[in-house]
Amino acid sequence: MLSSYTKLKIILSNISAKNPKNLQMEPIQHLHLDEENETVGYMKVDRYNQEKIERIAAHYAQILPELGEDPTREGLLKTPERVAKALQYLTHGYDVKPDDILKSAMFKEDYSQMVVVKDIEVFSMCEHHLLPFFGKAHIAYIPNGHIVGLSKIPRVVDAFARRLQVQERLTNEIRDCIQDTLNPAGVAVVIECKHLCMSMRGVQKQNSVTTTSAFTGEFVNDRTRTEFLKLISSSLD
Ligand code: ZN
Repeated sequence: MLSSYTKLKIILSNISAKNPKNLQMEPIQHLHLDEENETVGYMKVDRYNQEKIERIAAHYAQILPELGEDPTREGLLKTPERVAKALQYLTHGYDVKPDDILKSAMFKEDYSQMVVVKDIEVFSMCEHHLLPFFGKAHIAYIPNGHIVGLSKIPRVVDAFARRLQVQERLTNEIRDCIQDTLNPAGVAVVIECKHLCMSMRGVQKQNSVTTTSAFTGEFVNDRTRTEFLKLISSSLD
């Protein structure tokens, strides 16, 4: 059965949050790709806070002997500092305001079909074990007067993922940010991730994938949601 959203467009796939330049592979003429203004409205944080690095590193220098290691052996000498820098990078989302990312590239547009961005890379850290979970996010919204620069959606995912997280909250935070900022007719978020705290320890279900989803507006409607799910399960390859 056909619904009012039969004329769907998959606008992009395989966008990497790390490499939004991939956008250039599939330019969509009538939508605004805002590559030139990418950094307007928010700051990308790639600097390290040296004082914090030193404090975190000092703690790791104490943890290493507790694990039975010799922190003075060559391979471990700089490990506390490296871990501190890695952790600061992996949690830099605390310094990013996801709603500012969206606001920096919102455009009035009379487009009211579903916009789907699928296969967005997700890398996050489980707040219970400080171990990574990673996978893909698929996001859709139905514009209600405004569209947003497409590269901003993966950036919003990254802003929330680069914090200590649980997948359920990550899913809801992305949905709420897009709904509250862009005010679309509906938002759909599906995230599929592998959790190293499951596959490396504990139950050791090495290939299990956790799927979470969150919907608002039109996507609460069965038909619209079903079409979205059909779209994200089909491949463009
Ligand atoms: Zn965990």
